[in-house]
Formats: sequence, C-alpha cells, structure tokens
Amino acid sequence: MSAKIAIVGAGPSGCYTAQALLKRAPDLEVDILDAQPVPYGLVRYGVAADHQGTKGVARQFARVFTRQNAHFIGNLRVGRDVSMEELRGAYDAVVLAAGLSADRPLGIPGDDLPGVIGSGALTRALYEHPEAQALPELGEAPVVIGTGNVAIDILRLLAKTPEELKGSDLGPVPTDWLAARKIRRITVVGRSTAGAAKFSPVMVKELGELSQVDLRLPGCAQDAGEALQAAVAASAGPLPIEFRFQSRPVALEQADGALRLTVETPQGVEQIAATSVISAIGFTSDGALDRGALLQEVEAGTGRLYATGWFRNGSVGAIPQCREEGQRLAQQILDEITPDPARPGRALFADRSDVVDFDHWLQLDARELAAATDQRCRQKIHLREELLRPANLQDA
Ligand SMILES: Cc1cc2nc3c(=O)[nH]c(=O)nc-3n(C[C@H](O)[C@H](O)[C@H](O)COP(=O)(O)OP(=O)(O)OC[C@H]3O[C@@H](n4cnc5c(N)ncnc54)[C@H](O)[C@@H]3O)c2cc1C
Repeated sequence: MSAKIAIVGAGPSGCYTAQALLKRAPDLEVDILDAQPVPYGLVRYGVAADHQGTKGVARQFARVFTRQNAHFIGNLRVGRDVSMEELRGAYDAVVLAAGLSADRPLGIPGDDLPGVIGSGALTRALYEHPEAQALPELGEAPVVIGTGNVAIDILRLLAKTPEELKGSDLGPVPTDWLAARKIRRITVVGRSTAGAAKFSPVMVKELGELSQVDLRLPGCAQDAGEALQAAVAASAGPLPIEFRFQSRPVALEQADGALRLTVETPQGVEQIAATSVISAIGFTSDGALDRGALLQEVEAGTGRLYATGWFRNGSVGAIPQCREEGQRLAQQILDEITPDPARPGRALFADRSDVVDFDHWLQLDARELAAATDQRCRQKIHLREELLRPANLQDA
C-alpha cells in the first residue's frame, strides 16, 4: 500500500506509530514532522540526563528512519510553518503526536510570581532545549510541588554530586549551575497520601541511595510504601529532603523577599517558606495547535485525522505506553485508510530550504558524541542556529 501518512511529532509516540505502520506496510510513505531540528522529543529533552539506559530507546527510533525509511522533516512547526489544512490536503492521514510542552499552572493565587518555575521549563533549561529559558536561581530552600516521577527526577539531579553525574549527558552550563547551587533543604509537597503518591518505588530507592540525600517523612505518613520507608531509613546525607503529603497548595505570596506557600492539610492550614517553587504537576498544550477542537474531530472519526501519546491522553503514561498505543493506532489507520495518489505528500515541502532531514540529525549526533568529554557521554549542541547551520557540521 503506498498511502502517504504525516505524523506530527518525532517523540516516542510518533516514532513508535511510524515503526508499527512500516512494519505492517513497508511501502507506506511515512513522514515525521517536528518543530525542533532534532528528533525524539522528551527522550532528548525530558528523560533525565543521568538515565542513559532509558534514553537508549533513541537507537531503536533511529532505525525507523535508517532501515524502515520513515522521513524526518525537522524544524517545521505545524500550526505556524504549515497549517493543519495544508497537511491534511497533502496526506492520506495525519497523526497528531505533538506531546504537551507547556507546564500546567498551579491554578492558585500567586502561581505566576517570580521564583515559581514549571518542571518542564526547568528540565528544558537543564537539558539544553533550544527554546529553554535561563536556569533559575533556586536559593537555599526550594519547594517542589508534585510527587510524580518528574518531581523525583528533579530532586535527584539537584542532589547529585559531580561524581554522581559521570556518564550523563548534562551540559557544561547546567553542570556549573548545579555545582554553584546553595540548596540547604528541599521540601516536597503533594496532595495525596504517601501511599497514593505517583512516583515509582525504583525512583525513590535511587534517590535514597545518593550520598547527599537525607529523606524525611512526617509522622503522619503511616501509609508510606516499603520503598519510601526503606529509602528514608537508608539515606543519611547532609541535604534534607522532606516530603509533606496530604498538603494541598492554596496560595503563594511574596513575604520578606522570599515566597510563602499556604497548604491545607488534615490538621489545618500551614505555611511553608520557600526561596523558589518548582511545580511538577503535569503538562498542557502550548497552544500552537487547537488541541481541543482537533481531538473532537479525532473522536468523531470525521476522517483521516488521528492522535496518540501525550497529545491525546494528557501527560500520563511513560514510553512503553506510547509503544502499545502506537501499535494499536497503526492497525486502526491501516484498516481505515484510503490512499489517493493525487495527494502530494512530502512534495508539499519541496521548496522549503529551512527544513532538515534525518541525515542532518545523524551529522549532529556524530558531532555531539565526538565532543563528549571523559565525564559525559555526549555534549549537546543547544543553540537553534548551531543546530541548523550546515557550516557547523563540516568537521563532523
Ligand atoms: C521530565 C520528564 C521525564 C520523563 N522521564 C521518563 C522516563 O525516565 N521514562 C519514561 O518511560 N518516560 C519518561 N517520561 C515520559 C515520556 O517522556 C513520555 O511518555 C513521552 O515522551 C510522550 O511521548 P510523545 O511522543 O507523546 O510526546 P513528546 O515526547 O513530547 O514528543 C512530542 C514531539 O512533538 C513535537 N511537536 C510539538 N508541537 C509540534 C508542532 N506544532 N509541530 C511539529 N512538532 C511538534 C515536539 O518538538 C516533540 O518532539 C518523562 C517525561 C518528562 C516530562
């Protein structure tokens, strides 16, 4: 079958969907479009720099391009550089796999005060996303809101010594930023009970094993799972990280040059002093695509439009779920698609000189790996103009 399919987003959902489509129907023309000049979405810019095993899934995704002949069309933001209408006119089916990149706001008074930063903004800065803001000043006593794995990732990075970051791909600027931090204690605030917290036991165990960490639990956290209790017992470093469960944030205000977070607990209202607040409570759409309207169309099944991954489900599910969903979706598309040879497919972009292909990424990849030092497995190129400028690649 030589149908033409555009997938918007080269993260895990897009790559797994392409993999499953091309496995079942190798003659398909599958193009994966991404707003960034590089592929892999959160595998490159979200999964922690010190979790290289997880990031290794990128090798599997690379084969979707190099062996299964999917085409990467990078540096093309759908909704800005090409419209959904143009895309839908040019392809037999369009799959929305654009993820969710904006931090979900806390939704409480004061959530936009200086010193409040979203986990997405912070991890993009730590992992050198081309659109990242500068790394923030966290001060001596940051408060992390949220008890999912993203929160634990951030705690781990903030607590690691330079020695413990060996083998990661953390860049020199974030490395210096971490080395210069002045954190004396971290408070983690979550609405759920300890037993209902979303972090995985493995992540908590890893946190408790770090040399600097001293995990603390208030007496009321009786339902804390075995992993958390064991991590609390095992950790004996100089940096206190205190979990406060059943604490619902209700307001943030500025007080004496710092922040004050008010939380409601079963015992009553409490206030927590913070030099900064990192919110890790999930993600929402960046607005480049009209997600609500598009998902309605997808649900209505009005034709040739599909969605998967975080864009479809909200920010729930890890990489393995993207794979399962991609496989199901591929079968659905193949059952429903009606190819129209008149549709131009990737010829739509024939005149564009600003997009990049997978060979471009392979050169960047080689260059980043070659630039790695003995402490790091890769040195990322982070400026968009450097990611795009071919002259930069000559010596790759
Ligand atoms: C900080 C963090 C750490 C995580 N760590 C882990 C982990 O260790 N293990 C694990 O299994 N899961 C982890 N996850 C979850 C995992 O990253 C997600 O399950 C997965 O990335 C979702 O894939 P996706 O393809 O739906 O979205 P994404 O990975 O976000 O990919 C979406 C892609 O779409 C592109 N895009 C967006 N808008 C447009 C547009 N308008 N036009 C063109 N392209 C666009 C983006 O540039 C991006 O490349 C983590 C998530 C976060 C936030």
